[in-house]
Order: sequence, then structure tokens, then C-alpha cells
Amino acid sequence: MRRVVVVGGDAAGMSAAHQALRSARQHGRELEVTVLETTHDTSYSACGIPYWVSGEVGSREALVARTPAEHRRLGVDLRLGARAISVDPAARRVVYVGPEGEHRLDYDDLVVATGASALVPEWACAGPGTPAAGIQVVKTLDDGAWWLRELAEPGLRVVVAGGGYIGLEMAEALLARGHQVTLLTRSRVMSSLDEPMSGRVQAAVEAGGVTVHLGAAASGVERSADGALCAVRAGELRVAADLLVLALGVAPATGFLADLDVPRSSYGALRPDPQGRLADGLWAAGDCCEVRHRLTGEWVYLPLGTHANKMGRAVGENLGGGTLAFPGALGTAITRFAAGASYVEVARTGLGLEEARQHGLDAVETTTEGTTASGYHPAAEPIALSVIGERGTGRLLGAQIVGGRGSAKRIDTVATALWHGSTVLDLAWSDLAYAPPFATAWEFVSLAARRLAERL
Ligand SMILES: Cc1cc2nc3c(=O)[nH]c(=O)nc-3n(C[C@H](O)[C@H](O)[C@H](O)COP(=O)(O)OP(=O)(O)OC[C@H]3O[C@@H](n4cnc5c(N)ncnc54)[C@H](O)[C@@H]3O)c2cc1C
Repeated sequence: MRRVVVVGGDAAGMSAAHQALRSARQHGRELEVTVLETTHDTSYSACGIPYWVSGEVGSREALVARTPAEHRRLGVDLRLGARAISVDPAARRVVYVGPEGEHRLDYDDLVVATGASALVPEWACAGPGTPAAGIQVVKTLDDGAWWLRELAEPGLRVVVAGGGYIGLEMAEALLARGHQVTLLTRSRVMSSLDEPMSGRVQAAVEAGGVTVHLGAAASGVERSADGALCAVRAGELRVAADLLVLALGVAPATGFLADLDVPRSSYGALRPDPQGRLADGLWAAGDCCEVRHRLTGEWVYLPLGTHANKMGRAVGENLGGGTLAFPGALGTAITRFAAGASYVEVARTGLGLEEARQHGLDAVETTTEGTTASGYHPAAEPIALSVIGERGTGRLLGAQIVGGRGSAKRIDTVATALWHGSTVLDLAWSDLAYAPPFATAWEFVSLAARRLAERL
């Protein structure tokens, strides 16, 4: 019986664990799968936490896709409260600290699926990696519960540090709960977009009631005599605050592998091959890894649930005797901000204009404004679509969308075209669906691509 040990019991780890069991059954192999998970939660949607905090999702349980009992019923030896602290790849042994102390566990294959930890700067810490009073990250279900407790009374002054998608989603949740929100961002709001598109998002966020400070990296806090948080500082800027949301990004949780000689980035992200293999008997998947960008061929850090699930599945399939490769990523992402009458959807895929030029590409961009449905139809919502292509080859490089309801998911059309190496003209002439409540006669993606094609 081959022994697989998975470290980390969320998206990547549990995908790997169950796919390994399924694949082994299909290939007539015997496999024993043990999962070590340091918390007491498994397979939960971190992505849903802001919507739980806002009240749009009713309970913690609703965010749990599979409970520990369900995993065990499906054949996984799940050990909760079990934190892996070291690995000896020569002896094929992992050491973990469980409720009863330190244990050694022998394996034939080890899967590292430890995800990432939310960044907590030193000035915000009570102890190593632990936020001080009045400050919290948004990463685990326990963090979500913390926010719900702290936000029970409306009218608090809450500062959000970080203008990425988690910062935006939390700003929405805080406004929904009746709090005053100030967003501090080191560069721009949604800086993964090119500047003009990010400006559109900022305008919607401000229209929704958030005070935004650009170029404002949170750098410290002030406390009253009783130790309560009273202000957040960003250089010279001082913002009165009762609570501080840290949405500053994440770092791969790979510290316990620091001594191992495996492919990794300078900041600790693992670099497995497309099958998920790091070394003989050692595999990795999810937010603890970088992925290959399909357009540039470079390693990039894109910690997203969609990749974690796929990478975990590939690892599991290969462990059970099958063959599956994770084919890389394009940086496709989507979010929204909704507050009162202000509603904006945001999406991106591929390379932005700045990014493409940084890669030495002769990139051209056009932004087209229009509507998601025929202008005369009540379903019509505004949409701005920036499409980026390469002069000379006509190759499609990327797109960004900012718009109303039903606009952002159009990014999938562009992502699919990118996936298959289309030109901008291919996208312009694609056979996309049209009827007045859904689209314009030149579907908006085709229209925007056609405009760009004329300039290439
Ligand atoms: C607020 C929020 C919103 C998000 N929204 C989206 C979204 O809309 N779309 C999207 O694609 N992605 C989104 N994500 C990202 C997505 O949640 C992650 O990419 C995904 O959870 C990664 O899965 P993972 O299994 O690699 O890592 P994780 O989910 O981080 O799981 C890793 C697990 O390993 C455990 N672990 C860590 N170290 C050890 C150890 N030493 N021993 C034992 N166990 C350990 C951890 O406790 C954890 O349970 C969001 C994330 C957050 C926080």
C-alpha cells in the first residue's frame, strides 16, 4: 500500500487527496491518504468570507464545501490540529505537532498544499504573525468570525489597508454593515489593472462612499491610553480608526521546508513541474506555488482558488497512476464593488499594456465604451473594455473590463481566445451570441477587438 501524506486540507490539498483516491481506484492501485491540517476547518471558501461578513451569505457553514466528517467518510485519514514542522525527504518522513505532541509520519509521496499566509507587517503585530488589538486579516473562517464580532455595532471607523480585490470586497462588506470606510493603497485601487481602468474602479468606490487615499502605504497605528486602536498612519497621513483590515497580500506558507533543496522563488514560492512534482516523492500545489504564465512562459505568483483546485487535481491524478498536467495560467481574475447606487464589476486576463511593454512587446491598446445589451433595452449596463494586442503579429495579449452588471464575466470570452493563441481579428470575428437583452449586434467583446484590430 503506497502512503500519500498531504500537508494542508483546503482547496489544493483536498483536491489532491480525493483525486488520488479516485485515480488509484481507476488504475487498480492501493493508496492510503493522510491529510495534516493545522486548523479545524477543511475545504472552505475563503473567497466567500467578505460576503459572509457583509451578510449576503448567511452562515459560516454555508462556506464549507466538505466537512471533516465527509472527508473521512470518503476515505481520507484526516488529522486536524496537526501542523507539519519539518520534512526529511531522504527518510521520507514528515514531523508534525498534533494535539498530543510531536509525531513522525512516514510517506512514499508527500504533497505540500500549505497555501499562503496573509501579510502582517511588524508594526501591526502583537506576536510573530499575529495581529495586534483592533487589527485583523481576512484569510480563514476564524478571521471572518472575528470581523463579524467586531463589526456588530454600526458606525465604526474602519480603515482598509490594501486596494486589491480583498480590500475592495471588504470595503463593500463594511459599508453594507453601516461602517465608515477609508481605503489606503500604496499605489492605486486595483493596481493589477492599467491606470485608466483602475481610475474607473476608484471613481466607483468613491461614489459608493469610501474615502480613498492613493500612494498611502499604511506604516503604523496610534493607540489610546487603554491600548485601543485610534488611528492608522500612512507616512504623514493620519486616519482616525477603530479597526484596521489588513489586505496587503499573501506569502507562500513554506517556511517549514526552508532547509529543502527544491525549486523555489526568492520569496519561498515552490516551482513544481506541470505534473506537480518538486522532487522524487515530493509534490506541491496551490497558493504555496508559482505557476507558469502561458503568454510569457515566466513563473508568476497568482494565488487563486481556481489554480489551487486544478493543480491539486493534477497532483492527485498523477499520484493514483494517471497522467495530468497543469497547463499554466493567464492571470484571469474578477471581482465587484457594490454600495448603494454604486455598482462596478472588474475583470482582467492576460497582460496589461504596461506589463506587455515591460516584456518588450510592441503592444497597442484601445478602450471601447458601450453597453452590455442593446442601448434601447432596460438590461443595458455600461461597459468599458480595454483590449491589448501585438503590432505586427496581431496577437491578442490581454483585456480588462470595468462596467455594470453582467459586464465582467465577458472576460471569459477573451481568456478562452487567449488560451488558444487567437489573434485580435479572430476575436473580432468570433461567432458570439446576440439578442437585445444580452448583447449588441456586434457583441461588445467583438466590437472592442475589431476597434483594436483596425489599429494594429
Ligand atoms: C478573502 C479571500 C477572497 C478570495 N477570493 C477569491 C476569488 O474570488 N477567486 C479565487 O480564485 N480565489 C480567491 N481567493 C484565494 C483562494 O481562497 C486561495 O487561492 C485558495 O484558498 C488556495 O487554496 P490552497 O489550498 O492552495 O491554500 P489554502 O486555502 O490557504 O489552504 C492551505 C491549508 O494548509 C493549512 N496549512 C498551512 N500550513 C500548514 C502546516 N505546516 N501543516 C498543516 N497544515 C498547514 C492551512 O491551515 C490551510 O487550511 C480568496 C482568498 C481570500 C482570503
